[in-house]
Amino acid sequence: MKQRLMDYHLHTVHSMDGRQTMDELCSTMVQRGVEEICLTEHIEPGHPSPELDIPPIWDVWFHEIQQMRVKYPMLTIRAGVEIGDNPKLRDRIKADMDALPLDFRLLSLHLVNGVDCYDVDDYFGGKTRAQAYREYAEAKAESILAWNDFDSVAHIGYAAKFSAYTGADRALVYEDAPDVFDAILEHIIDLGKCLEVNTSGYATTGDTFAHSSIIKRYIELGGENFTFGSDSHDVERDYADVERAKEMVRQLGGKYQAAFDQRRMTLYRI
Ligand SMILES: [Zn+2]
Ligand SMILES: [Zn+2]
Repeated sequence: MKQRLMDYHLHTVHSMDGRQTMDELCSTMVQRGVEEICLTEHIEPGHPSPELDIPPIWDVWFHEIQQMRVKYPMLTIRAGVEIGDNPKLRDRIKADMDALPLDFRLLSLHLVNGVDCYDVDDYFGGKTRAQAYREYAEAKAESILAWNDFDSVAHIGYAAKFSAYTGADRALVYEDAPDVFDAILEHIIDLGKCLEVNTSGYATTGDTFAHSSIIKRYIELGGENFTFGSDSHDVERDYADVERAKEMVRQLGGKYQAAFDQRRMTLYRI
């Protein structure tokens, strides 16, 4: 089983917060020797900030992907979505996803009880660290356990990306909610799905999302499948630290990184 250079969490200007065109993304990835990418544009149904609840214009997006596939034949380009789950609108979100011919579904959660963790004052105000992180973990479990039809679980520990805690308190680790993380990881393993290793954590927590302690537990419980993603929104971060994260997961005993074509999974050695 061979190695493959892939980035499965990427945003372009088709995401409301993306700062690179699809063409800039593809040309940068080719220059960096990457073989396969998966666009994972945001949807955020019911987000409290209306300017974030703006999905891509799907037919324009699919058409541009087709053009990029012609322009960059050396790069495999997959069409995915980062599903910003929302318990209040979940049935509609599932129906919307079923209507799109996607390669990959990245199950994500930014809202915890209706508040996005990036709103630091709103989310962390009046809470202890233990409360803030436990609440996040429980909301993430509620989301994941309500889904079966997804491919990978995005950035477990997202709340730590914006928290004001410093040093060793910053990262959200397995010990913060072991029972909750076990339930999440067992669900992923039972379904044969993937755990995302998101490298955007290095800049803030010095580790990945999910944290290496959660990845270690996933492997202990029998988890084998991962996707790796930079979560890049601009050309500077395309494929950033993916090889570093793969090396970390390899050291922990992780086995496979997954690719998806029309939701069919192919595994490559990490
Ligand atoms: Zn996200
Ligand atoms: Zn993202």
